[in-house]
Formats: sequence, C-alpha cells, structure tokens
Amino acid sequence: MKLSFFRSLATALVVLAMSLSPVMMQAAESNEVNVYSYRKPQLIDPMFEVFTEQTGIKVNSVFAKKGMLERLKSEGRNSPADLVFTVDIGRLSDIKDAGLTQPVDRVQVNGNIPTHYRDPEGHWFGLTTRARIIVTSKDRVKPGEITTYEQLIDANWKGRICTRSGKHPYMVALTASMIAHHGEAEARKWLAGLKRNLARKPQGNDRAQVKAIKEGECDLAVINHYYMVKMLKDPEQVAWANAVNMVFPNQDGQGTHMNVSGMALTRHAPNKANAIKLMEFLASAQGQEMYVQKNGEYPVKAGVPLSALQNSWGSFKADSLSLAVVADHRAAAIRLADEVGYNN
Ligand code: FE
Repeated sequence: MKLSFFRSLATALVVLAMSLSPVMMQAAESNEVNVYSYRKPQLIDPMFEVFTEQTGIKVNSVFAKKGMLERLKSEGRNSPADLVFTVDIGRLSDIKDAGLTQPVDRVQVNGNIPTHYRDPEGHWFGLTTRARIIVTSKDRVKPGEITTYEQLIDANWKGRICTRSGKHPYMVALTASMIAHHGEAEARKWLAGLKRNLARKPQGNDRAQVKAIKEGECDLAVINHYYMVKMLKDPEQVAWANAVNMVFPNQDGQGTHMNVSGMALTRHAPNKANAIKLMEFLASAQGQEMYVQKNGEYPVKAGVPLSALQNSWGSFKADSLSLAVVADHRAAAIRLADEVGYNN
C-alpha cells in the first residue's frame, strides 16, 4: 500500500516535471529581443527583419518617441526592454547617467565602432553619424565665403543667419564641441556672436531654417546633413534644398562636428544574449550598409559603401572629438545658451 503510494507520487512528479520543462526551457532560451526605439519603425524594422531571418531571433519593437527614459525608470527591473535606440549624444548619455544601462564589451561591436563614437565604459554605442553642416543661399552667398563655424560670428553675416533653438540637443552638442575645442570663455563669445548675427528669433526645426533661406528671410543656416536627403525626397521641400549649397565646416582644422544615433543595453535586459547579437549585427558591415541606404546618415564603421548622393557630396574631414567629451560639456552649453539669451 505504502509502496504503491510512493510509486504513484514519483510518477506524478515525473509527469509534473515533464510538463513543466518545456516552459522552463523557453524562459531560459527565449528567442526574442525587446527594443524601445526613438527611431521610426520604417527605418529600423527592415534591419530587424534581416536579423530575424539570419538568427531566428524575433525582434519586438516599441516606438517611443517621447518619455523613453521615464518609462524605463518607472518599469525598473520589470522592464521588458533589452535595448534602446535613440538619437543624439545627449539622450544616450542621459540614459546612462540615469543608471538604466549596462556595459557591453564585445570585439564584434567595439571593433566596428571607433572609440570617439562610443562610451569609454561601454554603456552606449553610436551606430550612425550625422554632420552638423552650414547651408548657404545659392543666390546670395558665394561658394567659399564661409568655411568654418567660427566665421558664423563675423560682422558680414549680421542679420543673415537662421538656427533652431540654442537649447535643442543638436545645437547644444555643437556648442559643447566649441567648449571642448576653445574653452568656455571663447565658446561663450562665439555663441553670443552667433546670436547677434541671427536674422530672427530661433524657431522651428532644421528644415524650417532651409525654407527660410529659400524664402529670403536668411542667407545661412546650421542643420544636420541628412535633412538635405529628406527634403530632396519630399515634393514640397525639394525647392528648399535646391536653394542652398552645403558646407562641411572646418576642413582645414578640427573637422565637421558630428553627432550620432545609437544604442544601449538596458540594465535589467531579460534577453541579454540575444540583445548583444542584435548589437553585433547592427555594427556589422551588413547592418551598417542598410542604415546608410535607408536615411542618408553616415556609417560609424569604416569602409562601408556610401549612397550615390553621399558620394556626390564628396568626402570630408569629420571631427574626431570624443562624444563622451561633448556629453561632459552639455550642461555648460545649455547654461551658455541661457547666459547669452540665445533664444530671446
Ligand atoms: Fe534629426
């Protein structure tokens, strides 16, 4: 009697263990990776599809244009997110500074991304770069009349320059790079000088500045280069793009200021191994080439073929200042924008 009880108990336990095991196996070897993205799905989904074809790992992406940092914070260790994708060194460093990331040290990632485009501690990685260029009116500015950011404060540009807010992350990063190169006192003079030369109160996005050149409101603007690609593809905006010449500044000096879009592994990533595989794919030659063909940004990896349009612009010298250093000067750059009343 006793023996048969134990025997049936043992059988029951075996049955229970067998029924549980597939569930436990699944939890340990999930074939998924979860992504929070500030980048548009049209841009990154095709890359995720290729990754899934190659690895069998499914990518679940949530497009979170606003409040990604707050969302990660409030979810804490229960967050399903493994990876975050965002633009601008400011947003990448903010996520790290909030303690929401963990370091990655993989040769397949580090070997493809130059040191100045990634966090020295491995918490964030640039995937694409964007040049902050000067665009000039084809009608009213001669080619070669301006070649550096420093010349933006020259007296002959008074009342002729348009930019977006001095506190937008793109402008903040440029000012931060000026602090890194020239020191805070010189950067302050530069920003005050640029403010003095503005044609109007800072407003609108980068493309709105190019439109203002087309409409004769200003003659120069400072924009990220890929907006030229976007405007050329847009029937309403192509005329704006065609009204300007592109200047990649500071070719005889430190080179053109660069920013990045990038990625970071979350602190509590539930699918860490899969997430690192996706990071490796996006830093690889194939992942990098897809990025370039999609939206006109430059690859971080050397030797990746550029688009026909990028080739038509020619090669240029990019500033090799570490974006970690740019991040360190962001707070001072925002303070300078206040001090010189840039947006007033
Ligand atoms: Fe942008």
